[in-house]
Amino acid sequence: MALKTPQDYVQSLRDGRVTYWDGEDIADITTHPRFKVPIAITAADYDYQSAEHGALRRYRTEDGSEAHRIYQIPHRAEDLDSRIEMMKHTSIGTLVSGVYMALMSVKDEVAEVNPQCAANIDRMYRYCRDNDLRAAEVITDPKGDRKRRAHEQDDPDLYVRIVDRNKDGIVVRGAKLHITAASLVHELVVMPTKGMRQDEKDYAVSFSIPVNAKGVKIINRSFAPAELNAFDYPASSHHSMPEGFVVFDDVFVPWDRVFLAGEVQLASRLAQSLGLWERTGGVVEAVRMSELFVGLAQLVTEHQGKDRDPTAMNTIAELITYAEMLRMSLDYACRHYETTPSGMIFPNTLAINTAKYYYAANFHQTVRHLHDLGGGLVLTLPHEADLRNEASGKYIRKYLHTKKDVDIETRMRVYNMIRDLTADAYGGWQFVVALQAGGGLTAQRIMMSRTYDLAGAKERALRAAGVKPGAEKRAEAAE
Ligand SMILES: Cc1cc2nc3c(=O)[nH]c(=O)nc-3n(C[C@H](O)[C@H](O)[C@H](O)COP(=O)(O)OP(=O)(O)OC[C@H]3O[C@@H](n4cnc5c(N)ncnc54)[C@H](O)[C@@H]3O)c2cc1C
Repeated sequence: MALKTPQDYVQSLRDGRVTYWDGEDIADITTHPRFKVPIAITAADYDYQSAEHGALRRYRTEDGSEAHRIYQIPHRAEDLDSRIEMMKHTSIGTLVSGVYMALMSVKDEVAEVNPQCAANIDRMYRYCRDNDLRAAEVITDPKGDRKRRAHEQDDPDLYVRIVDRNKDGIVVRGAKLHITAASLVHELVVMPTKGMRQDEKDYAVSFSIPVNAKGVKIINRSFAPAELNAFDYPASSHHSMPEGFVVFDDVFVPWDRVFLAGEVQLASRLAQSLGLWERTGGVVEAVRMSELFVGLAQLVTEHQGKDRDPTAMNTIAELITYAEMLRMSLDYACRHYETTPSGMIFPNTLAINTAKYYYAANFHQTVRHLHDLGGGLVLTLPHEADLRNEASGKYIRKYLHTKKDVDIETRMRVYNMIRDLTADAYGGWQFVVALQAGGGLTAQRIMMSRTYDLAGAKERALRAAGVKPGAEKRAEAAE
């Protein structure tokens, strides 16, 4: 099947999907101003003829046809490398389709429990890949009272669940929150948010359903207004993506689209594998962002004439440490990949979780360094319109002067970038994204303690403490 064009993609969104934004029931998202930027950046990933990134975007499948690289199953280190390179130049509206990497990496385990479900994963993966579709990662339930299990909540629908099963399929009810790009994709790939117990079989459910399926409703939210100018908002004017509050109001799912329906032993495996691929995306973005921070810090410092100042140099060294630790972690995670029984490789689980944790736990502190170097103009720089207005512009040019070789507009653009990325609506969004997207700090801590070689660490500590091999066990047995 053929790859889509950007125009085909836009056309494909006119399918009767039910979406709301700011009190409005939107009949056609392709003509609505709030969706203009998100659709444009997602459509750009369908430009396979682009001289810059066209070749990086596509790969040849085992059938000989071409598909978007987001669907390429890595089997060798080079495949992972080109995937990471592609991710650097791809919008989040496309990257979310990485949900299929998660499903394909647990397919072998699913097959051991339910071969039919594994076959469904395989078929849906090919269907999305071969039709050049995009799919959202739909995992986070509302969760109600965090201290109670799914089936113990006041309202049984606070986790997505199966409310009916018949010979043709299942009927599901519930909601999933914060779903990136939900209104802009073709398929919603639903998974349990965490492990489920034997008495929670109806909550151990995973499936893929078209966005326009009957009963699916999406309430959108984004930090971005409809239109922003590129001088004042260099990042967010061309980068925004709504998150969806996705409701499943008794949605029918045919059996051939079901990946899990009661196999509780697999619920946490699906959640974990999605976590890994989501966090890999988070770390790729972390590397990009942290390198940007270093550049912005150096520029703002040079523009102020402080570049040989020891305090400024120390602060920039902190930013370099952050950026390099992240870059090296990503590199390590790809070099020390893991392999599924059927030969698919995926980034090192411990390294990715550690890197994502490091990114999130230190993000706010790192931004503080940038704000410290920048000073108050980070927030109070006049708008472009005042620069272009001759009456006010002449004062802006006069009083923002620092040194002969510093261009005023360049200086303003650097400040606008810092504010937009870290101190305005998009900046506020970034603060929470760094922490929560791909799972909060606790999710990574859990994965780190599960995957770190704690037995080996204890062994080394015992030897260092002078305990002879086996001595601590003999002492216990004697007690
Ligand atoms: C911009 C953005 C985009 C996102 N995109 C997606 C997406 O595309 N798909 C998707 O599925 N999800 C998405 N998420 C959701 C994200 O994965 C969650 O926000 C994250 O996993 C945290 O879950 P939560 O928001 O329900 O918070 P909670 O789980 O309520 O966590 C809040 C705090 O409560 C703590 N806590 C939770 N439970 C307990 C407990 N039992 N005992 C003690 N403490 C507890 C947590 O450790 C944390 O400190 C996105 C989030 C954001 C912000």
